[in-house]
Amino acid sequence: MSYIEKVWQRVEHRNAGEPEFLQAVKEVFDSLSPVFDKNPRYEKENILERIVEPERQIIFRVPWIDDKGNMQVNRGFRFEFNSALGPYKGGLRFHPTVNQSILKFLGFEQIFKNSLTTLSMGGGKGGSDFDPKGKSDMEVMRFCQSFMTELFRHIGPDTDVPAGDIGVGAREIGYMFGQYKRIRNEFTGVLTGKRLEWGGSLIRPEATGYGCVYFADEMLKVKKQTLEGCVCTVSGSGNVAQYTVEKLLAMGAKPVTLSDSGGTIHDPAGITAEKLEWVMDLKNVRRGRISEYATEFGAKYMANQNPWSIPCDCAFPSATQNEINGDDAKTLIKNGCRLVSEGANMPSTPEAVDVFVSEKIMYGPGKAANAGGVSTSGLEMSQNSMRLNWERDEVDARLRQIMTNIHSAAYNASVEYGETGNYVLGANIAGFIKVANAMLDQGLV
Ligand code: NDP
Repeated sequence: MSYIEKVWQRVEHRNAGEPEFLQAVKEVFDSLSPVFDKNPRYEKENILERIVEPERQIIFRVPWIDDKGNMQVNRGFRFEFNSALGPYKGGLRFHPTVNQSILKFLGFEQIFKNSLTTLSMGGGKGGSDFDPKGKSDMEVMRFCQSFMTELFRHIGPDTDVPAGDIGVGAREIGYMFGQYKRIRNEFTGVLTGKRLEWGGSLIRPEATGYGCVYFADEMLKVKKQTLEGCVCTVSGSGNVAQYTVEKLLAMGAKPVTLSDSGGTIHDPAGITAEKLEWVMDLKNVRRGRISEYATEFGAKYMANQNPWSIPCDCAFPSATQNEINGDDAKTLIKNGCRLVSEGANMPSTPEAVDVFVSEKIMYGPGKAANAGGVSTSGLEMSQNSMRLNWERDEVDARLRQIMTNIHSAAYNASVEYGETGNYVLGANIAGFIKVANAMLDQGLV
């Protein structure tokens, strides 16, 4: 049995009941055997046993009072996974499905994603099973304050710098930042995704969606193609989906779908800038459902369905993990899809990934394609440390360059390891080598 298989058995045994975490680990392990053949020191120094174990995991009680005066209790988490390359960095997710398995998968992915950005950031992730949907602003505020009342002792601008994720946008970041500041009596860049007026970065809200489209553009460039005129399906209607649509429009593509947990809207005429502005107000201010788009603009609403049955040239999954299964992947390809760029984290099941890789379509896995968000968080940290703000164009140019570099790193590794254009293999290998070497340099870590 190979070293990787041996470690995999141990990981499976020790993390039984954590399917999402095991899925993420397996995908990385499956890419690494050529790397271990080339560098026996990784095996000798048990690098895999170390890298799958979070450096620290924190689980805590979050009591808060609802608007009726009742005590509620949620569970809070922070997984500080790996600090070989810098302070732990990764988002906070507030969603009722949040559990240890999901946050460990996200934290594990974050290590390699952050490595690919070339910025100095380790990997971490956290959150709570709190559901902000249907809660008043005051309930969200009381929850965030209570969450930070415990989390503050574990984080800091040089230790661990959380950001947003599903259910955590500028509103939640604001309430948590305020509480951290009161407790510590210091104004530091301890969270990213802050509003512009008090330490945020231009382009941070746009960064994940924009970056995902830039990554798609880089994959197309290799084949001397562009996004101009491409029909694109997008899932989700939150932060990542909204700015994916915005950048697709800027690049001359035609986005035709959006979705939420209730279903999908299909607008064959195309989602225009004006319609997108309406969606942003619906989702970010009125906090309504995407089905309302169908009524407003006369589009089709497909209740309880995802967008993957709609014919498209390019697909941008931007909602959540495992939202494309093997059958969806086959349907996408049968209908002409030739590019998938993942805004969400691990949106494709292993069966779907196999379909994309074996059919050799342009497939950008999340840890490469959606790294624009954390990259711009890294740029926000730099601006906070220097106490200055870069112009919009400067941040966007840096984001574009980082996405180009991530694409090159993944593509070049795929060439070097004999599977040209396999971005899964390329991203896993390029991300892994930097972290592994840093861990070896740092000794007993
Ligand atoms: P938001 O909370 O802004 O939006 C999430 C969207 O996905 C909503 O439309 C939501 O619908 C939908 N969604 C969530 N869970 C499900 C589900 N189980 N089934 C169907 N739809 C669902 O989150 P973001 O846009 O920030 O995040 C989207 C994805 O992108 C996540 O995978 C996240 O990890 C990833 N990501 C985000 C980054 C960022 O910078 N924000 C960075 C890198 C990755 P509903 O409102 O009905 O729940």
